[in-house]
Amino acid sequence: MPFEPYGERAVNTVVALVNSLTPGDDGLPDLDACAELLGEHGWIVDDLTSADLAFLRALRPRLRVAVEGGDEREVVAHLNRLLSECDVLPQLTDHDGGWHFHYARPGATLAQRVFVTSLMALLLVVRDRGSDRLRTCAADGCANVLFDTTKNHSRRFCDARTCANRVHTAAYRRRQRAKAGTPER
Ligand SMILES: [Zn+2]
Ligand SMILES: [Zn+2]
Repeated sequence: MPFEPYGERAVNTVVALVNSLTPGDDGLPDLDACAELLGEHGWIVDDLTSADLAFLRALRPRLRVAVEGGDEREVVAHLNRLLSECDVLPQLTDHDGGWHFHYARPGATLAQRVFVTSLMALLLVVRDRGSDRLRTCAADGCANVLFDTTKNHSRRFCDARTCANRVHTAAYRRRQRAKAGTPER
């Protein structure tokens, strides 16, 4: 797959960050929550600061614009605009045994590294797979975004355990009601 080794991880970080902010519910209230979210996606969080937390919290609505679907040119323009705010200095490194790019300037804060790496990963997704690989969940009333990595472009729900089940259960109940002759509401 012609994708950065850490690209998928970075895109999934964006999806998790965006999905942590839903109306009336903020899943990123403090440093512990932030460390957990980033740690789950492979980031070393030893140097996480409250400035990083504030930066990432404020970044979420701006990242959402890039991943909830929409006109591809607008998505790219938005990502390029965000990238122009970053302190970018691409360097090839093999500190962990395999060649990969670091995009943020050496010594950048954790939040800057997450920001820059994520933007580059999102741009590579758009270039290699199309911006519609990132879009909102198909379940009614769910505003979560998802990253579709299926071969046939078939992923519909943000999380198979919750939204997919909810939709399938609703469809099952509709079929049962139809069988029993109960009129659809
Ligand atoms: Zn590295
Ligand atoms: Zn969903």
